[in-house]
Amino acid sequence: MARVALVTGGTRGIGAAICKHLKDDGYSVVANYAGNVEKAEAFSQETGIPAYRFDVSDYDACQEQVAAIEEAVGPVDVLVNNAGITRDGTLMKMSHERWQDVLDTNLGSCFNMAHAVFPGMKDRKFGRIINIGSINGQAGQYGQANYAAAKSGIHGFTKALAQEGARYGITVNAVAPGYVDTDMVAAVPEDVLAKIVARIPVGRLGKAGDIARGVAFLAADTADFITGSTMSINGGQHMY
Ligand code: NDP
Repeated sequence: MARVALVTGGTRGIGAAICKHLKDDGYSVVANYAGNVEKAEAFSQETGIPAYRFDVSDYDACQEQVAAIEEAVGPVDVLVNNAGITRDGTLMKMSHERWQDVLDTNLGSCFNMAHAVFPGMKDRKFGRIINIGSINGQAGQYGQANYAAAKSGIHGFTKALAQEGARYGITVNAVAPGYVDTDMVAAVPEDVLAKIVARIPVGRLGKAGDIARGVAFLAADTADFITGSTMSINGGQHMY
């Protein structure tokens, strides 16, 4: 039986590349998305990967939808917490709503989804949880106090959960992308982006496939000695 992989925010950008890569590797893949039905339908049609619409910041929806996915496809072996949003602004211009939305969607979602799959993984003595962090969670970023806090939180969450999962064969790792050419980065003004690219030693933006390769590596059965780690995939922009 193929292992089942669930990728949140899997219908476009980095998530879509992760879904396609895992499918090519032989996984039975399920994607989630928030509300962009047109993109999701086009994605499912192109790939044959089912897409479930629910809000990963909603705890109850996550529990219900993961149960429905497991009923339809089988127990989730690999969870990729990829869904994320930005709501940028300097602190003085950042509303409480923008702060909370970003924390709930990027970080709260990791708890919500892990809570839904962890008991089953524990019973089956196998699991892979891969959380998508960010270079901006490692280094901070002007105008992104909410996003940097959420992504930095993901890195702490990963290390704590890795310690809880290890004895049950569950590994928990993070992947921290640098700037990747997706809709999210298309929102960055051109002049700002040019300055960012000038600081990337390999001289280009990342591609979604660059991140997908890292995720697939950590998802493999053979990656069982790697847990609590953060894989930085950023063209050398931030090293530590
Ligand atoms: P995109 O904006 O291209 O895609 C985001 C995906 O997440 C979409 O499928 C979207 O669904 C889904 N999503 C958003 N909010 C929710 C929600 N509340 N519930 C369920 N799904 C949701 O993002 P990227 O591909 O660029 O980014 C993917 C991840 O990588 C994010 O966590 C991001 O923070 C991180 N990252 C990205 C970087 C980059 O340079 N692009 C750099 C570092 C990290 P829908 O289509 O329905 O809106």
